[in-house]
Amino acid sequence: METRHPPTPEAIVDRFGRRLVYLRLSVTDRCNLQCAYCRPAEGVAHVDREEILRFEEIDRLARLFAGMGVTKVRLTGGEPLLRRRLPELVRRLTAIPGIRSLPMTTNGILLEESARPLREAGLERLNVSLDTLREDRFEAITRSSGPGRVLRGIEEAQRAGFQQIKVNVVLIRGFNDDEVFDFLAYADARDVNVRFIEFMPFEGNGWSREQFLPYREALERITARFAVEPLPREHSSDPALEFRVPKQRGRFGFIASLSESFCAACTRLRLSADGRLRPCLHQETSVDLKGPLRSGATDADLARLIRGAAHLKQEAHPDYLADLAGPQVSGITMTTIGG
Ligand code: SAM
Repeated sequence: METRHPPTPEAIVDRFGRRLVYLRLSVTDRCNLQCAYCRPAEGVAHVDREEILRFEEIDRLARLFAGMGVTKVRLTGGEPLLRRRLPELVRRLTAIPGIRSLPMTTNGILLEESARPLREAGLERLNVSLDTLREDRFEAITRSSGPGRVLRGIEEAQRAGFQQIKVNVVLIRGFNDDEVFDFLAYADARDVNVRFIEFMPFEGNGWSREQFLPYREALERITARFAVEPLPREHSSDPALEFRVPKQRGRFGFIASLSESFCAACTRLRLSADGRLRPCLHQETSVDLKGPLRSGATDADLARLIRGAAHLKQEAHPDYLADLAGPQVSGITMTTIGG
């Protein structure tokens, strides 16, 4: 979608010529799960409520980003469904000219009750994170009960009109890699798409090379059983490598962030719930937008700060797999940055 239009003078372009058109917007830093791979074991300090961007502030920034060529805004967190009055925010964001796509990534725990109001507010696409279909494993990884709640949430979302729901599965060797076929069967049964995500290292999340499962290995296991059909990428910047099993519903795909990094085609910026703009998930640097916003910055001032953050975007994240000393990821925590 972003290649259809030549960059305008307002466009956000980084030092490597990548045009940044995709904003991942964290609406809260709080989460109702404590996934072991997402946050340090000792937990994370939460931001004070008054530091969290208000809807008017998000609206103003989103309009500014849209004016600078951003066409896709993903709602994320923390857990976005914990943000009060989220349908109101969806209504505001869908009304912004230029924003053509507004998906959300959620853990689905609160989806059963929230799907319909969000759909009615104009949300069209959902990614639901679910790493295991087994109760005991779900409790072990999230420190909470209930794949059942998430599955009911997905069903309710389908009844509310969400189509092509994507289920995100972080594959961890020795934990859930024996569930690959269960997820393919689930995709077929419920007509959802499954995306297997490579396990990435973040501060204190227990990442190890032994637990890392490269996507090729998972794909080989699947191709040993099924003659799968590769599917063309919907957009050149879409990181997923997608496939389908003939005669089965639902696609499956891989986000191979480590073994086949997609940095060269990256179009993303991330705005944390407290208004810090981060050029890359794997980079500690961020630029504060909330302070200037609250102390009277003009749109031109804010646009300068946004361009400054884009300018800091690194060419590629470190090659964690090549680093025999182990990944250096201090200060980088998925849940607080916004996944
Ligand atoms: N709470 C929401 C959810 O669970 O989808 C949104 C935030 S969560 C941080 C966004 C995504 O990041 C989830 O799909 C989660 O599985 C993924 N994620 C978190 N830590 C990860 C890691 N270490 N490696 C790969 N993906 C990770």
